[in-house]
Amino acid sequence: MTPGPPLWLLAELTYRCPLHCVFCYNPIDFANQPEELSTDDWLRVLREGRELGAVQCGLSGGEPLLRDDLEVIVAEARRLGYYTNLLTSGVGLTVERARALKAAGLDHVQLSFQDSTREMNDFLSHTKTFELKNRVAQTIKDQGWPMVMNVVLHRLNIDHIDRIIGMAAELGAEYLELANTQYYSWAFKNRDALLPTRAQLQHAEAVADAWRVKLGDRMRIFFVAPDYHEGKAKKCVNGWGSMFLTVTPDGTAVPCHTAKMLPGLSFPNVREHSVRDIWFDSEGFNRYRGTGWMKEPCASCEHREEDLGGCRCQAYLIAHDPTVADPVCVKSPHHGLVQEAVQRAEAGLATVAEHPLVFRDAKNSRRLSASST
Ligand code: SF4
Ligand code: SF4
Repeated sequence: MTPGPPLWLLAELTYRCPLHCVFCYNPIDFANQPEELSTDDWLRVLREGRELGAVQCGLSGGEPLLRDDLEVIVAEARRLGYYTNLLTSGVGLTVERARALKAAGLDHVQLSFQDSTREMNDFLSHTKTFELKNRVAQTIKDQGWPMVMNVVLHRLNIDHIDRIIGMAAELGAEYLELANTQYYSWAFKNRDALLPTRAQLQHAEAVADAWRVKLGDRMRIFFVAPDYHEGKAKKCVNGWGSMFLTVTPDGTAVPCHTAKMLPGLSFPNVREHSVRDIWFDSEGFNRYRGTGWMKEPCASCEHREEDLGGCRCQAYLIAHDPTVADPVCVKSPHHGLVQEAVQRAEAGLATVAEHPLVFRDAKNSRRLSASST
């Protein structure tokens, strides 16, 4: 079956970032990555993506505002007819820069917070950024952009959900995304300290529901449930190679931003291949498309079209085999490994004192990359 076009082009412009989030989804070895694509390379990727049918363009990182050419990239994306979305920590979004990005045609800004207080926001990102983010939220409103506020939830901040939602409402967010941590990359390293208990999750969902009733249409709240506690696999990136095409800072094209970790797979680079060839013909994009690659229990499962066997990166990280059912699924022979992690969280065994947090920084990146080779 020939796949449809990639609707979403996610341009990860840089892995550089002033923040050091403990749940960061960037690769562990980000500090060893080769040179970033040039402006011309990015403009060509945008053109080729649009020719293929992409309509949404996400500009992320790292911190995309660290690229001096962001305005040029936004302007070209706009000229080509993309709906553009900047995903930012807020660092670097000065009033001048915001005006320039607005003039270039940026449609939408997603601003991340780590928590609702200065102490916790700054602790979890290991930077003093809380006040700055508050100012940036105002700048976003002043430019007339719809604001999506994003807060990644985990054991250390989920109990503050009432205050987090209140803060988003006060700052005038139109959308609030409360995404429970997905345990890849840095979050996987910190999993024992970050995994919440069931009681924490139930409380958080109840609080989010109450705020939905209170706020009505004023602010839409999305609560993205965690898959570890549900026993159900999710259709990762809406299906491998079906909707998302991510280009990493060095030009490697991947179906999802963590797929580069998977062994035995090669992913093409936009410096050497056209986006069309990458999408339709590369081994990397075809390997886990659809259901043909599945083995049991997925191959004969009634849910295989709904969840496509879940996440390949999660299968690799937990079961050390990217070709098996996602271990979060109760039918997976490796599900016990997920249950053990949840039970440790329930028993309160996973404390920060016992499992010190590993912050995402260049020093830790080099240390962890060296120890895994
Ligand atoms: S998750 Fe945090 S450290 Fe990682 S790119 Fe985003 S802001 Fe930077
Ligand atoms: S066995 Fe595979 S296809 Fe079936 S529900 Fe689990 S992950 Fe999904």
